Amino acid sequence: MGIITGREYMDRIDRQQANVWVEGERVKGKISEHPAFSGVMRSQAKLYDMQHCKDKQHILTFRTSSGELAGASFLRPTTREDLEHRRLAFQEWAKISAGMMGRSPDYMNTAVMALSSAADFFGQQQPEYAEHLHSLYERAMKHDWSFTHTFINPQVNRSLCYFEDDKEIIAAKVVRETTDGIIVHGARLLATQGGITDELLVLPAGGNYIGDEYVYAFSIPSNTPGLKFVCRQSFAGDSAFNDPLSSRFEEVDAIVVFDNVLVPWERVFLYKNAWIAKDLYAESHLSAMLLHQVLARRVVKTEYFLGVVHLLIEAIQIGEYQHVKEKASEIAAALEALKALLYASEKEAKLDARGTMVPDLAPLSAAAFLYPRIYPRFTEIVQLLGASGLVCLPTESDFSSAIRSDLDRYLQAATLPAEERVQLFRLAWDMTMSAFGTRQTLYERFFFGDPVKFAVSFYNGYDKTKSVEMVQQFLDHTANRQKDDSLDEERK
Ligand SMILES: Cc1cc2nc3c(=O)[nH]c(=O)nc-3n(C[C@H](O)[C@H](O)[C@H](O)COP(=O)(O)OP(=O)(O)OC[C@H]3O[C@@H](n4cnc5c(N)ncnc54)[C@H](O)[C@@H]3O)c2cc1C
Repeated sequence: MGIITGREYMDRIDRQQANVWVEGERVKGKISEHPAFSGVMRSQAKLYDMQHCKDKQHILTFRTSSGELAGASFLRPTTREDLEHRRLAFQEWAKISAGMMGRSPDYMNTAVMALSSAADFFGQQQPEYAEHLHSLYERAMKHDWSFTHTFINPQVNRSLCYFEDDKEIIAAKVVRETTDGIIVHGARLLATQGGITDELLVLPAGGNYIGDEYVYAFSIPSNTPGLKFVCRQSFAGDSAFNDPLSSRFEEVDAIVVFDNVLVPWERVFLYKNAWIAKDLYAESHLSAMLLHQVLARRVVKTEYFLGVVHLLIEAIQIGEYQHVKEKASEIAAALEALKALLYASEKEAKLDARGTMVPDLAPLSAAAFLYPRIYPRFTEIVQLLGASGLVCLPTESDFSSAIRSDLDRYLQAATLPAEERVQLFRLAWDMTMSAFGTRQTLYERFFFGDPVKFAVSFYNGYDKTKSVEMVQQFLDHTANRQKDDSLDEERK
């Protein structure tokens, strides 16, 4: 098979009839026609279709060893050129959604590729776990599967000394083993795109070790019996004019409930081994591979922010004020810094012991540290410059009503007729102020984990040797100078 079309993606997800709940109702019929999912599924379908466009195929796909075409995010990089190929493909897809689709399929495909590249590590516990991972990767690539994932436990009590009462299971854990597999019961957070992907990938939740029954990793089809996706209220608008982003790119987030779910042994690749759970990120270079995709997307998203801000400035002619250009420069400077970090990660990439070309984690982590801090500032800049324009936002139907001539006169901008001006300001509003826009800010803050814990692990893992040696040499030199100076004094 190899690469699929958008139609194949939608049909496959419709057929699987996963157990998905939205606002108190189970989704019935075709999920691709449900208002909460239709926009984003059509956008996702477009991504799959792009793989078949002759002028994009060399970027978005590669030939596997068996000669089939596969999506570029499944490409296991062994050279710097492969990393560049992957980055160009990530960005080609990101451009479609202005970087707003954080969970386009390339994100988790990258995770599956990275994990399987270290399959032997998982096989140390049970050789068949390596086989299970290989087979997952091969099948995902062959059928162009999409994945959602869940890596954290429910937010009930985050105190360091909290232990769950065994009688009332909340965080999903293995409650039984059978000859067929493990039985998982409880809940996990927070599967973005839960219910509209082929598979659910589950990795051990971070935090303290709380027992072997919580240590597992597997991937199962989204329609596995007992699996339920409890979605938040959808923020999807229904008009491309009124809601230019949410109508197309709203990725609903879901709580994942496991109601005594049987996970077949052949889908498990880690179980009851805290040591493997602890080291799996380092061994598979999962963070570096994921952050390479994340930063490529964030560069595109930042380019969009700069474009929107510049068009706002032009539209209402505020460019002659210094503070306005200073604010726009903040975004431009951030963009350049992010691009430099992305390219540095590829330039400093190294082959690991398994022959995978791994982008340098340090610049990628630096970007991941910065983005949750600078992204809210981008949204603030849009608000500070857009001002009342971000609420003077008549709808598509206003423009086809009797008040159109008023709108044309009073909502025109220096460089744009009213309708185009409103379209631009609606885009700025949907990026930063609508429910969709504010969820984007929360997403950029948290989707890669708690930014505070991330900062701690970044600092702990950062190689400070050179800096420390330089300061040490400086201090030694200063001490020697002081000694020389006092000898000179004595000689005098
Ligand atoms: C929009 C969105 C989409 C997401 N999509 C996914 C997804 O697809 N898959 C997935 O697995 N996850 C997803 N996540 C979840 C994400 O991984 C978590 O939000 C993140 O790991 C933080 O966990 P938490 O939300 O439980 O926050 P908490 O851990 O509950 O943190 C709440 C607050 O307490 C502080 N805190 C808690 N514990 C500590 C501690 N030990 N030390 C210091 N401070 C602490 C935090 O700093 C924070 O300020 C998503 C999150 C968001 C917001």
